Amino acid sequence: MHPDPKTKQGKATRIIHNRRHKDSLGSPYSPVYNTTTYRFADTDSLRNVIEGHTQGNLYTRWGSNPTIRELEQGLASLEDAEDALAFASGMAAISATLFAHGRSGIVCIGDLYGGTQELLINHLRPLGIPVTFLLKNECEQLASVLNMPGMLVYCETPANPTLGILDIRKLAQRTHSRGALLAVDSTFASPVNQRPLLLGADFSIHSATKFLGGHSDLTAGAVMASADHVRPIAQWRKNLGQILAPETAALLSRSLRTLPVRVRQHNENAMAVACAMQNHPAIKRVLYPGLPDFSDHSLASQQMEGFGGVLTLELKGGREQAEKVADSLKVFLLATSLGGVESLVSQPCATSHHGISREERERRGITDGMLRLSVGLEDADDLIADLQQALNQL
Ligand code: PLP
Repeated sequence: MHPDPKTKQGKATRIIHNRRHKDSLGSPYSPVYNTTTYRFADTDSLRNVIEGHTQGNLYTRWGSNPTIRELEQGLASLEDAEDALAFASGMAAISATLFAHGRSGIVCIGDLYGGTQELLINHLRPLGIPVTFLLKNECEQLASVLNMPGMLVYCETPANPTLGILDIRKLAQRTHSRGALLAVDSTFASPVNQRPLLLGADFSIHSATKFLGGHSDLTAGAVMASADHVRPIAQWRKNLGQILAPETAALLSRSLRTLPVRVRQHNENAMAVACAMQNHPAIKRVLYPGLPDFSDHSLASQQMEGFGGVLTLELKGGREQAEKVADSLKVFLLATSLGGVESLVSQPCATSHHGISREERERRGITDGMLRLSVGLEDADDLIADLQQALNQL
């Protein structure tokens, strides 16, 4: 963990001890402010807060709630960001960012989460927002498609389910040279493995439902950015009503305290599973950025501090065999999502990429024989044994 230049403390220390409120009863944890509103001493004080002359809590939907602000401070600290906003879901974080900063036009690079793609195609395009999609290997075209002032470039790295890696530093340079901003959905990496802002991106976005929450028991989202870039997003969040509940914020803050240690174990388990699956006769390919023969391994090694908890197996026997393996697993649960303590398996062509034609999936390197694994925190040997018994049934 890199130490904070100001406090000299590492992220793990900061996320555990960074309390906004010193509790009068001595609790190391802040109380949960389970309130929607706040009482003022007089109208003058109320007016001063509404008009922004003084800071104060006013109404929780606006984001002015001590439990939510404390969570946001923790989120910002994880990525050395000036500020952060928490949301009721990853999609809320993505949509508010796109509305606030993408109205002149959005250029997407590489593969995107299906929900994001739906939002862009079914909702933002019909509103008149120009949306362009480039494949991962079409980054050269960025300069020509960034043809309006104030556009937004949007991408995910690592990508789902191919785990393809985009060069954030290079993308940021190309984006900024055309006067545009760069947003990176860094959900698959988590802030422990990747900090896009330090590589030059303007926004780091997370579905906090995944590694940040880490226990498959909450839905939330996050955006980290400079204070100037956060401000307009906060306005959209306020008026679209995308704030998360204070109880969820407290639960997420609790999860953040164990994030570094959890993610390190996800990384270790995923690497062990990837290595064990590499030479299995039923498996054509193992896609995992940590494997030295993975196509984007050297780029991943440069921009990531760990390779993450998600990997994809491609079965030689195609869709039928992938389905059979998924159905035979006992420790891995057949479920969508990722980043929780329990291992999950899903077939991209039947779940996350079901809505995309087979032709388009193949153009993007997503085949019917793929199985995506979210490797959890069980004993790695048990996960490997589970996969082996399922593969042996083919
Ligand atoms: N971004 C990525 C990469 C995702 O995988 C997901 C959900 O699976 C989302 C965003 C959306 O997050 P949420 O389900 O929390 O709205």
